[in-house]
Amino acid sequence: MGIETRVYLRCPKCGETYPLDYYRWLCPKCGIPLEVVVEPSSKPTWDKWKLREKGVWRYRELLPPIKKPVSLSEGGTPLIRADRISRNLWIKFEGANPTGSFKDRGMTVGVSIAAEAGARLVGAASTGNTSASLSAYASRAGMKSIVVLPKGKVALGKLFQAVLHGARIIEINGSFDDALAALMEAARRGIVYPLNSYNPWRLEGQKTIAYEIAETIGVPDYVFVPVGNAGNISAIWKGFKELETHGLIDRLPRMVGVQAVGASPLATAWKEGREEPVWFENPETVATAIRIGRPVNWYKALRAVEESGGYLLSVGDRKILGAQMEIARKVGVGVEPASAASYAGYKISIDEGLLDSKDRVVLVATGHALKDPGIVELVGKKSLVAGNVDEAVKLMSELSRGETGGGESKGQGVF
Ligand SMILES: *Cc1c(COP(=O)(O)O)cnc(C)c1O
Ligand SMILES: [Zn+2]
Repeated sequence: MGIETRVYLRCPKCGETYPLDYYRWLCPKCGIPLEVVVEPSSKPTWDKWKLREKGVWRYRELLPPIKKPVSLSEGGTPLIRADRISRNLWIKFEGANPTGSFKDRGMTVGVSIAAEAGARLVGAASTGNTSASLSAYASRAGMKSIVVLPKGKVALGKLFQAVLHGARIIEINGSFDDALAALMEAARRGIVYPLNSYNPWRLEGQKTIAYEIAETIGVPDYVFVPVGNAGNISAIWKGFKELETHGLIDRLPRMVGVQAVGASPLATAWKEGREEPVWFENPETVATAIRIGRPVNWYKALRAVEESGGYLLSVGDRKILGAQMEIARKVGVGVEPASAASYAGYKISIDEGLLDSKDRVVLVATGHALKDPGIVELVGKKSLVAGNVDEAVKLMSELSRGETGGGESKGQGVF
């Protein structure tokens, strides 16, 4: 038997380290979320990894050592080349995860850690996907879950998942940030084990997005990530840096963070050259998964963007919805609005000359289109109505000859 894998916590700001502790999430000096450091006992190699099943736990040398992970076979998602847009563009389709978002990668690690910590009740504040994922993994582990959601602001698909998996749901009259404050207070009082963005263990699972990209196409020039609480962009950057540390890649990508204009505390800070976020007290955007005014992982994210030589930008809701439609129609991939922000950011970057068409770019498409069916009217519902079989056939004939514009929203579709 070799030496054991070493796991401890470290503050990304002051560098102070803390021994493994499942109940410590903030640096007491800096007040910001800690990060997990895993020093593997055996050398990770691509050859070893390639022999294993696809998914998060394929990379277990670089993950916290857990004997029996709580897993639903998350990860191993498709990386789809968007040929009809550009030969140098790929979409990492995280909607293909078990509950339809990348949150599952984090939750398999987070709920496994909660189990090791002896928790019976796990909780999270959520804009939706975290609650969907948490409730599913809690069920898998035989635990109970509580989710705190901003009332009336969660997409229908996500709310349904939490209900279906049996989470107890508290809808708070307030924003996501209020929901988070409530949850963390309950956690401090020992009521629930929190699996929020403060919890550094979730990001350990999410960093495998970087491993999968590098394993499939090597290191791209740019990775575009929609940014809400800013955990995912931090996790993906951590993943790439670890691959470099272990000699598994020899260069790094630039990280680009995309926010919605109405919820852009980090993109605004970036534009104005500030070192700290400009908090948004009333964030508003159609992309509910990134409707966050006070991103918990702001420090890690700003550092990831800066260190990698990338940038942050914001995109308006109309551009987000247009991008969602374009991915659906040019690539065949259906994503939720927040996920489409990465493609909207890509398009602006091309227009403004920040990117060259020769640059190899991966867009992280964070969640599935079915999460948010409530926006069908915004996307443009364009049915034609036929009173009987003959009329339906006649309409098809006209459509095939391009004689009708396809109903109310003319000229948007193939016809
Ligand atoms: C959670 C989520 C995001 C934002 O990720 P952060 O880690 O909070 O920045 C983006 N898109 C979707 C679909 C999400 O569920
Ligand atoms: Zn610190």
